[in-house]
Amino acid sequence: MSLFSRPTPEARGLGMTSQRARDRLIDRLKSNGIADRRVLDVMRRLPRHLFIEEALASRAYEDTALPIGQAQTISQPWVVARMTEALIEHKLPAKVLEVGTGSGYQAAVLAALVANVYTVERIEELLRNARRRFRKLGIENVRSRHDDGKLGWPEHAPFDAIMLTAAGEAIDPILFDQLALDGILVAPVGVPGAQRLLSYRYDGKGWVSQSLGDVSFVPLLGGLG
Ligand code: SAH
Repeated sequence: MSLFSRPTPEARGLGMTSQRARDRLIDRLKSNGIADRRVLDVMRRLPRHLFIEEALASRAYEDTALPIGQAQTISQPWVVARMTEALIEHKLPAKVLEVGTGSGYQAAVLAALVANVYTVERIEELLRNARRRFRKLGIENVRSRHDDGKLGWPEHAPFDAIMLTAAGEAIDPILFDQLALDGILVAPVGVPGAQRLLSYRYDGKGWVSQSLGDVSFVPLLGGLG
């Protein structure tokens, strides 16, 4: 059974050849504490090697971040799994905003789990490549936009969940304005060398954060790349 509606024969073929490497990665994620079957199943099926340059494809199923050009990285699989798990653990969101499309891998993971994914990227070339990958994999429920995602995507708010995949020193309140009150926001927060992955939920009075551990992300930048 294929993950998405219309994967091309090429995508299917490449996926099959890498299945064993992918299975090993999933075993590793499990032994490092990732427990949500829905997340593990999606990552087992999604061909991460299609989201990086061919020269690095042989490293696609290592649990490590890899360069994707423009001084950016595709996040480490464990981090993708942990963030996705946190985003869906209380209830399955129907509408998710991702800030920082990058390679498109995190958006593709989300697209297999939730009905509608909105993703914003400030570097046009990365966004173009990500869109090409969505098309190739037959992913039709991701809407993407070239913009500064610090400002969210107000036209489509409110979102049930918001995920930032680049780290700022604080979360701009404008993003909480675009989040449903029973929603969740997951983001790396802090300066390089001292970042924590935080999840925010509303407790009736304000947005309260919980730490999911230390991480290392590229910085959230302003303006367009
Ligand atoms: N989710 C991505 C991770 C990419 S790294 C993946 O799965 O591959 C983070 C990305 O955030 C980079 O591509 C960077 O260009 C982008 N980014 C940084 N600041 C941003 C901003 N203000 N708005 C939108 N994208 C931003």
